[in-house]
Amino acid sequence: MDNYAIAENFSLLSKLLDIHGDNSFKARIYGAAAFNIEKLPEQLADTPPAKIASIKGIGDSTAKKIAEMLETGKLRVLQEYIEKTPPGVIEMLNIKGIGPKKIQTIWKEMGIESVGELLYACNENRLTLYKGFGEKTQANVQESIQFYQSQQGHFLYAEAEVIFPQIDGYLKKIFSPETVHVTGAFRRQALTIEEMEFVVLENNDTIKPKFQTAQPPELLEEKDNTILYKLKNGLKLRLHTGKGKMDERLFGTTCSEEFLTAFNKTFSSIKYTGKEIGDDSVFTQAKIPVIPAFMRETASIIEKAKNKKLGTLIQPGDIKGIIHSHSKWSDGDNTLEQMAEECIKRGVEYLVISDHSKAAAYANGLSEERIREQHRQIDILNEQYKPFKIFKSIECDILGDGSMDYSNNILSTFDLIIASVHSNLKMNEEKAMMRLMKAIENPYTTILGHMTGRLLLSRNGYPVDHKKIIDACAANHVVIELNAHPRRLDIDWRYIDYAIDKGVLISINPDAHSLEGYDTRYGVLAAQKAGLTKEQNLSSFSLKEFEKLLADRKKKKKI
Ligand SMILES: [Zn+2]
Ligand SMILES: [Zn+2]
Repeated sequence: MDNYAIAENFSLLSKLLDIHGDNSFKARIYGAAAFNIEKLPEQLADTPPAKIASIKGIGDSTAKKIAEMLETGKLRVLQEYIEKTPPGVIEMLNIKGIGPKKIQTIWKEMGIESVGELLYACNENRLTLYKGFGEKTQANVQESIQFYQSQQGHFLYAEAEVIFPQIDGYLKKIFSPETVHVTGAFRRQALTIEEMEFVVLENNDTIKPKFQTAQPPELLEEKDNTILYKLKNGLKLRLHTGKGKMDERLFGTTCSEEFLTAFNKTFSSIKYTGKEIGDDSVFTQAKIPVIPAFMRETASIIEKAKNKKLGTLIQPGDIKGIIHSHSKWSDGDNTLEQMAEECIKRGVEYLVISDHSKAAAYANGLSEERIREQHRQIDILNEQYKPFKIFKSIECDILGDGSMDYSNNILSTFDLIIASVHSNLKMNEEKAMMRLMKAIENPYTTILGHMTGRLLLSRNGYPVDHKKIIDACAANHVVIELNAHPRRLDIDWRYIDYAIDKGVLISINPDAHSLEGYDTRYGVLAAQKAGLTKEQNLSSFSLKEFEKLLADRKKKKKI
């Protein structure tokens, strides 16, 4: 072991002690030891053991640990600390702007255990509620996490979409545009992107020299028909190369494996001409409606297309109401007036304000008293903004035992209730199902919020039996949210067609915490993958239709 590795171990041990809040005196000693060891002119491995303890800044206990590392290559106490710390918490040490003390607060007080969850908490304005975290710190943390994640090659669709035009434009500039076409996961509007893929109908030998710019991307892999680069921004770029027919290469690289296998089995005599720009003629030859690239995921979609059951897909412009949004009353950035006025400016017909409930203390959740105050304000604003309407709602926490965060008496004062799980997310399927089923069966629940609690690229959702939940929502007239935040997109689109079959309404909701948060576009893109139409989406209902649905529901449930 060289000095550098020994110093690294001491440094990590010192930070972990601080993160756990254990023995700050020792933490300081190990931190200083790391600092001194790194500067030593001679290697500790070449220093006689007896001399090590007399080196400036190294005491007896440090010397013992050095001996242990030199003998075994390990430091036992460090291993123990690593084992009792979630890997995501250790990973936070890579984020600029937060030291061990802040990480301790983030982990122990905020209950956040991964970098992605931390980013989401910044987006929800949650850090500023804690001591030592001002708005500036929060903004810095947010920025350095985004940078850190991009360097890991992890991209949400929304993030990749920002970079796409640059890459597309560049490739079309250095090659003739008709030989370049985006393909793969990005063309399918996949929720997360590991590689941005393009068909480039050129040979590798022609392609590679063109990338010898001032800052050439890193070449990761090269085969006959493909080259994989890593760009400076961390994104991987895969080029499907070689002379060939565009329609053939494009169709073959766009579709998921499941789709492609099923398609080739059903339609075996497709002829490729290489003359068209896209790959629509494949479907013309198969005599079925064109299946858009973003739907080429499952085999079942081919059957639907054969039976002409694709329907008219929902579009971003079909959203008529903002359902699920947070104001300054809980953890949002803006006042209720600002939120409503922005809706009016955007031509939205109604706003469902659903701040956090009282159990969500971290998010300044509303007490019963503050609910009454908020309702008074909504009444006044509704007079002012007619015919625009603000609906009284709450994002009610589903508590650990599945009960709701308020009594039925209080719940009955809202126009509608969104029920969500925000606490104790680490649970097995049995527990998760018990909580969700109880919430769905509560007569006051109108919408089930972000069903699994997942955060894409950062946190798996708790395990649930999707079909059972959808069946229960059907039986209890509960709407299922498709949370449009590009990091959530929860319910996953793969279960939406089952919900449609069961007659359960989906609601594409922004879960906005600021005016910018009103964007539901990524939710719509995900819903399109599932074939959702506007009639099947609650937030596409006009104000009148929405009011009627709420009234009908209350009648059915006798509440
Ligand atoms: Zn929520
Ligand atoms: Zn929310």
